[in-house]
Amino acid sequence: MKQYVLTFLSVAISTFLLAQTPSNSTVLPCGTAPVKSEWLKRYQANPAAFDQYSRNQNTLYAGMTLHVVGSDAGVGYISFNDLMEGFCDLNTDMAQADIQFFIQGDILFIDSSGWNNHATVIQGAEMMFANNVPNTLNCYVVADPAGNAGYNLPYAGIALTKSGASGGGHVWSHEVGHNLSIQHPFLGWEGKTYNYGNPTPTTVTYDYTYFKDTLIVDTLIIDTAFVELTDGSNCTFAADGFCDTSPDYLSSGGWQCNAQGLSNTLQKDPNGVDFRSDATNIMAYSSDACVVSISPQQIAAMRAYLQTERSAYLFNQNPMRDTITATANMLNPIAGQIEQYDYVELEWESVPNATHYVVQVSRLNSFSFIEYNALTSDTSLIVTNLQNQKIIFGE
Ligand SMILES: [Zn+2]
Repeated sequence: MKQYVLTFLSVAISTFLLAQTPSNSTVLPCGTAPVKSEWLKRYQANPAAFDQYSRNQNTLYAGMTLHVVGSDAGVGYISFNDLMEGFCDLNTDMAQADIQFFIQGDILFIDSSGWNNHATVIQGAEMMFANNVPNTLNCYVVADPAGNAGYNLPYAGIALTKSGASGGGHVWSHEVGHNLSIQHPFLGWEGKTYNYGNPTPTTVTYDYTYFKDTLIVDTLIIDTAFVELTDGSNCTFAADGFCDTSPDYLSSGGWQCNAQGLSNTLQKDPNGVDFRSDATNIMAYSSDACVVSISPQQIAAMRAYLQTERSAYLFNQNPMRDTITATANMLNPIAGQIEQYDYVELEWESVPNATHYVVQVSRLNSFSFIEYNALTSDTSLIVTNLQNQKIIFGE
């Protein structure tokens, strides 16, 4: 039984709309295998049939569940600040499509070294099947998602690295793009190296085993994509099937752009016409510093897919967005109270409009080192892993 001095400063989170400066390149690839879903093929065959879902409507609010994965010992989680900054950046990007995500329920913690560093997307699928919350887009932040920066499994959810889920980049938005049906503009070139010195083929083949709408583990699935021409003549069915995304054959992560937002790498199409790819598109593999845009046709497809195939995410079109003005008052423990170090019950008054509370405990009143860090939608918490004989400040 030792003395803890607790002061309590409130932080509550309701909306996340911060602007971030894009950071530098993403080196790890996106692990989402190229595949056009049957839905996307149907959509692109007749986009006009989906006009009712186009963007001349209000913002769509979609539920998301955040799963923070750590080791078996419960360490190695992404920090809350990083996660929230990443979430803000996601919503900043998605504002282009008038889509906003809200965090449904508590952030969920998973202590599993095996899932935290999973070697294959099949293991990632197992993690998702075991933990997914229905009717939300489930996102898992792990140390290593099978060697990728992130990937989307159409039947399960998204896995991201901690850096991919942190602020300053666009990996999360890229994977959400996949989740809402859109593909790489360089579809078919994944895993291949483009060489200007060789004739450009008219088609490329690609493997999307594990990435169909349902998990199929016993069949290798190969498809063929037409290579997109610069004259626009095959843009409705070649590569990603969108005519307002440029031809792009560059599949190595983090390629650089020039001042015009085009690839430094010169390419030539199957007709021998030179071009540079648009580096600004969120689904390209260009450096995050180049990325700013989702094309109108991509947006139309995302919105149509969300309102048809993923309409379950849209169960709450009025997520609370009220301003928080009050701070939380600590109810327990009171300052100076002696607490059992391995069982400290924290309790505070609810704050009007707050949906979540950041709870931090530090031995330093500067909070330069955080002993305990949690996010909860509740107004109490039991902390069991503090050290003995320390004076602790709670935030
Ligand atoms: Zn991708």
